[in-house]
Amino acid sequence: MQFDMKILVINCGSSSLKYQLFDMDNEAVLAKGLVERIGIDGSQIKHTKTGMDAVTHITPIPDHKVAIKLVLDALLDKNHGVLSSLSELSAIGHRVVHGAEEFATSVKIDAKVMDALKRCIPLAPLHNPANIMGIEAVTEALPNIPQVGVFDTAFHQTMPRHAFIYGVPYEYYEKHKIRRYGFHGTSHYFVSHRAAEMLGQPIEKLKIVTCHLGNGSSITAVDGGKSVDTSMGFTPLAGVLMGTRSGDVDPALLPFIAKAENMNLDQVDALLNKKSGLLGISGLSSDLRDVESAAAKGDARAKLAEDVLNYGVKKFIGAYAAAMGGIDVLVFTAGVGENSASTRAAVCDGLEFLGIKIDPVKNDMRGKEMEISAAGSRVHVMVIPTNEELMIARDTKRLAF
Ligand code: AMP
Repeated sequence: MQFDMKILVINCGSSSLKYQLFDMDNEAVLAKGLVERIGIDGSQIKHTKTGMDAVTHITPIPDHKVAIKLVLDALLDKNHGVLSSLSELSAIGHRVVHGAEEFATSVKIDAKVMDALKRCIPLAPLHNPANIMGIEAVTEALPNIPQVGVFDTAFHQTMPRHAFIYGVPYEYYEKHKIRRYGFHGTSHYFVSHRAAEMLGQPIEKLKIVTCHLGNGSSITAVDGGKSVDTSMGFTPLAGVLMGTRSGDVDPALLPFIAKAENMNLDQVDALLNKKSGLLGISGLSSDLRDVESAAAKGDARAKLAEDVLNYGVKKFIGAYAAAMGGIDVLVFTAGVGENSASTRAAVCDGLEFLGIKIDPVKNDMRGKEMEISAAGSRVHVMVIPTNEELMIARDTKRLAF
């Protein structure tokens, strides 16, 4: 294993690219940034060297290759860069959205892996092509650097069949790979393992429910360190109410809305993904901060949106306690879970019968890693900021060499 190991983590979207450079000797973030509007007018890169102000460079960025080149240039820049040569980079880790049943763990990328990633495209037509473009752009810029793929779906590959098979003709699972996959796996893995570490207990002995509540949200049942059920499904549209996604609805709504609103199915799909959730119910915003402040001022639909979210999360916690035959730990993470004391309080209110009781004073904080359960609460209720990038960097370090 080499010393001075620097790992770049890349998360490519269809028109964006987020990156973080880690010094793996101490897991410190040396620099990070965001490339936005790739292939669209007004593209830019915003780069931050740790400890310095962000610098933004507005420039045409027609594709992911140019984006990667700009990231590498920013890392080498005399003023706000952190590398003197690209040879200091040891490996690159990529977030990949969909690994289907091809990948149950992170993997070092080679030609065979690229073929398998391409086979997964029909399951994630918006996300996987962007991830593949990112990997190809790195291969072109740095042909010899080891690259690792870390999948949003991988952690959930341990779900038993009864949790992932849908009640549709079984041939569709065989023919079209239709099943529950689940997402946010890197985050659920990270916070469940961190919870066990904080409690000083072996994860194999714990029944944990992890609530990743952000703009996208999912809840996972982690039994003995393995995902046994999760609220997202074949796509990230399923489960609890999200910023703009509906979460679970009666599937018969799709043809009904199509007829009632004279839409085609793609338009209904877009409606459920982009115009629903907190935004759809409140009519105001997809951001919980806006919804919370409107509700506090008496806006009835904002209050209703909050109530639907909280009630949905509460029901999943109960369902997963039943699925695992108990619950020892409840974890809140991501933008909403880490920051919204009122969401955590409302979700836990009424779950005393499961042994869940939070301390209102401890709960009155944002963004800190801490246990918030009351003295005497049988279940440990914890807030653990997620860190998917660090998880990707760790897997990359483990697998790249
Ligand atoms: P994420 O997708 O994990 O980045 O979470 C983003 C979401 O977290 C935002 O859309 C907000 O709704 C929510 N959020 C962030 N900070 C707060 C806060 N202080 N209070 C309530 N919600 C917050």
